[in-house]
Amino acid sequence: MNFVVLVKQTPDISLVKIDDAAGKVLLADAGGTINPSDEYAVEEGIRLKERFEGKTTILTMGAEKSESTIRACLALGADEGILLCDPLFEGSDSQATAKILAAALKKIGDYTLVLSGKQSADEESSQTPAAVAALLDLPGIGFVKKIEDIKDNTLVVHRTTEDGYDVLEATLPAIIACEKEIADPRLPSLKGKMAAKKKTITRWSAADLGIDGAAIGGNSATKRAKVSSPPQRKAGEFIEGESPAEIAENLYQKLKTDQVL
Ligand SMILES: Cc1cc2nc3c(=O)[nH]c(=O)nc-3n(C[C@H](O)[C@H](O)[C@H](O)COP(=O)(O)OP(=O)(O)OC[C@H]3O[C@@H](n4cnc5c(N)ncnc54)[C@H](O)[C@@H]3O)c2cc1C
Repeated sequence: MNFVVLVKQTPDISLVKIDDAAGKVLLADAGGTINPSDEYAVEEGIRLKERFEGKTTILTMGAEKSESTIRACLALGADEGILLCDPLFEGSDSQATAKILAAALKKIGDYTLVLSGKQSADEESSQTPAAVAALLDLPGIGFVKKIEDIKDNTLVVHRTTEDGYDVLEATLPAIIACEKEIADPRLPSLKGKMAAKKKTITRWSAADLGIDGAAIGGNSATKRAKVSSPPQRKAGEFIEGESPAEIAENLYQKLKTDQVL
């Protein structure tokens, strides 16, 4: 069985800056880390190959620097990594990203189950896994919190609902988007880190996938028109006083002066 995990490298959000004048997000110095939601899918992907035998493949579309995120997944126990990287991919929206990922899955060919995170920490569209399922005409299930079994070409999962969960069956291959509850991510071992350094990561370009620039990258259907910072919040104010009663009185007077009361 081949369990393919869709992993996105996302910027360290604390390092992201916004250029309000230009209406752009500045990502150059923002580093890169595994999209937090994908950590759970990676862990489940590794547990599945340990439980059912087979291999776990990490599939990422992104810039060259995404290689570090793939290596981090290999250090955890994933077997193979594929990086989809091409200047034609730059600027892809979620539908275009799904088109590129779907082409790569077709090229992989022998996958059993595709796992993804629930949403990305930067774009947060949550559309990618469903779009990949639609493009490949595969069963797609979101909000999966447990994989109960994989047997006789059938997948049985628990899907979170507002007041409990559904038990769903799907034929394989299928695509699932994982909830946090699915598995607690492990930490990498030193041995795993050393082994990951030596592994070869496969790289596929647009030409390797047999796709051109139509409807991907800069030709995506959606464009980010403008980005701006949220308005700055006013600094808080401490109301002083010698006693609780005096603080309450001072607060009351301030609210009256500010015409809040
Ligand atoms: C207008 C626009 C321009 C963009 N330009 C760029 C750019 O120049 N460079 C760039 O790197 N990104 C760019 N992106 C973001 C990138 O293309 C996203 O990967 C894509 O939009 C997926 O949507 P999402 O981030 O909302 O993921 P979601 O749909 O929220 O993600 C759900 C899950 O899908 C999987 N997934 C999502 N994206 C990927 C991926 N790339 N590889 C593997 N698995 C994935 C993950 O498992 C993730 O948890 C752009 C997005 C937009 C809208």
